[in-house]
Amino acid sequence: MAHTVKIPVPALNKEITVSTGLFINNEFVPSVDSSEVIQCFNPATEEIIASVVAGSSKDIDVAVAAARKAFKTSWGKNVTGWERSRLINKLADLIERDAQELAELETLNNGKPVAIARDFDIGDSIQCLRYYAGWADKITGQTIEVDNISKMAFTRHEPIGVCGQIIPWNYPINMWAWKVAPALAVGCTIVMKPSELTPLTALKLSELVIEAGFPPGVINTVPSLGSVGGAALSAHPDVDKIAFTGSTLTGRKIMEAAAKSNLKKVSLELGGKSPQLIFESADLQQAAAWSALGICYNTGQDCTAGSRIYVQDTVYDKFIDVLVSTVKETVIGNGFDQKTGGGPLVSKAQFDRVWGYIDAGKAEGAKVVLGGERRNTKGFFVDPTIFTDVNSDMKIVKEEIFGPVLSIGRFKTEEEAVALANNTTYGLGAGLHSTDASQCMRVSGLLEAGTVWVNSYNLLSNNVPFGGKKQSGIGRELGSYALEEYTSVKAVHWNIGEKLQWPL
Ligand code: NAD
Ligand code: MN
Repeated sequence: MAHTVKIPVPALNKEITVSTGLFINNEFVPSVDSSEVIQCFNPATEEIIASVVAGSSKDIDVAVAAARKAFKTSWGKNVTGWERSRLINKLADLIERDAQELAELETLNNGKPVAIARDFDIGDSIQCLRYYAGWADKITGQTIEVDNISKMAFTRHEPIGVCGQIIPWNYPINMWAWKVAPALAVGCTIVMKPSELTPLTALKLSELVIEAGFPPGVINTVPSLGSVGGAALSAHPDVDKIAFTGSTLTGRKIMEAAAKSNLKKVSLELGGKSPQLIFESADLQQAAAWSALGICYNTGQDCTAGSRIYVQDTVYDKFIDVLVSTVKETVIGNGFDQKTGGGPLVSKAQFDRVWGYIDAGKAEGAKVVLGGERRNTKGFFVDPTIFTDVNSDMKIVKEEIFGPVLSIGRFKTEEEAVALANNTTYGLGAGLHSTDASQCMRVSGLLEAGTVWVNSYNLLSNNVPFGGKKQSGIGRELGSYALEEYTSVKAVHWNIGEKLQWPL
C-alpha cells in the first residue's frame, strides 16, 4: 500500500518524511497489480533506509494514460507559454526553499556530500528550471514565403507529446531537472522513472509538483526496476519520446524497444571514457587541479569523468608528481561529515565493479602510483586510484569504470596525443591544457567529443548544449538545443490565391 515513511537522519538528529507511492495524477497511489518494493540503501552505512512501491508495467500504462489526458486537456497546446513559465518558476522557488532537506535526502540515498548536493546539484537544478521557464513563452517557428503571390507557409514548434524520462543514480535531482525543465517549457507531459537505486528525491520533488500547482498528470513519477518500468516505457505504444541518461548498454536496449514499438523519438546521454591532454606549455598546477576535479568529482561516478590522461613526455614526471599530491588531498568519506569532498560509491554492485577494474589494472601490469588499497570499514568507499605505465589494450584504459580510477599515459607529438585521445568508441567529453592558443584551437577541433574543455574540465552551464558523439549518445540536453528534442516541427502550407486547374 502507498504510504509515507519517516527516514531518520542520525547525523542531524532528525527525520525526513517521504511519500512512497507511485506519483500519478498528483496523487501517491499503490501499484495496481504488484506488491513489489524497492529497498533503498545508505551507501555510507550499507543500511536499508526505506522501501518504496515498485511500479509494474501496468502502472506504467496508468501513468502514460494520465500523461496523455493532461497533454490533451490541461497542458500541451492548451496552456500559454507564460503560464508554463509561471509554474516552472514556482517549482524552482519551492526547490530553493527546501534545498537543505532535499540535499540531506540525496546524501542519505546517494552518498554524496550534503553541501555539494545542495550547492551544486540542487543549485544547478534550480537554475536549469529558471533557464527553461524563460524559454516557455519564446518558442517560435518561421514564416516562409513560398511564392510572392498566392502561397505562404509557416512552421509551429509543437510539443512532441508524452515523454518517458529514464534517469540514473549519479545525479538524481540534477538529471530530474535537466529532463523535466525543457519538456515542461515546450508543453510536453512526463512519466519519470527514477533509478531504482535512488528513487527518494524524485518522490520528494513530486510533493513540490503538487504544491507548485501543476495540473494532475503533467508530471508523473513511477519508481520501478529498469527491466520492468524502464522497459515498459521504452516499448509503450503511446509514449512519443524517451529521454534517457545511463549506460550505453541500456541505451541500446531503449533504442531497440523504440524501433520495435512505435518509432518513438529517443535522446540518449550515455557513458564515456573521456581523455585529457596535458601539453608541455600548460600551467601544470592548474592542469592538475582540473584533472583532479575530472576524476574525483562525484567519486568518479560521472559520465564525463576524465578517466584517461595523456601527458607530453617533456613534462610527464613533473605533472605526475603535482597530480598525485593534488589528488591525495581529496577526502572521501560520509556525506554528512563537513570535511568530505566525495562520498562512497552508490551501491555494492558499483563497488564490486570498480574493484574489479582496479584488480584488472594491477593484473594487466599497470603501475599504481596512488590508492588501490581497500579500506576495512562499512560503506562503499573507494579512494582515488591512479595508474601509470598503461597501454591502450588494458581494460582500465578501454572501458568506463565509473569510479575514481585514472589511467595516465604519455605522448611525444600533438598528432600522437590526438590519436590517443580519439582511440575510443565513446565521445562525450575531452579536455586539453595548453597556453598555445593556436594549439588549443587546432586540437579542440580534432577531438571527437560532444564537449571539449580548454584549460578547465567538467563545468557545465545550463545555456550551453551537452551530449555525446560516437557511442556516447544521441541528441543534446541543455541550452536552446534541448528544446528541439521535445518539439515536433509542423509545416503549414497556406494557399491564398492559387486556383487548381483540374485535370493537370
Ligand atoms: P543503467 O543504465 O542500467 O541505469 C540507468 C537507468 O536506466 C535506471 O533508471 C535504470 O532503471 C534504467 N534501465 C535499466 N535497464 C533498463 C531497460 N532495459 N530499459 C529501460 N530502462 C532501463 O545503469 P546501471 O546499471 O545503474 O550502471 C551501470 C553502468 O552504467 C555504470 O557503471 C556506468 O558505467 C554507467 N552509467 C552511466 C551513467 C551516465 O550518467 N552516463 C549513469 C549511470 C550509469
Ligand atoms: Mn543496469
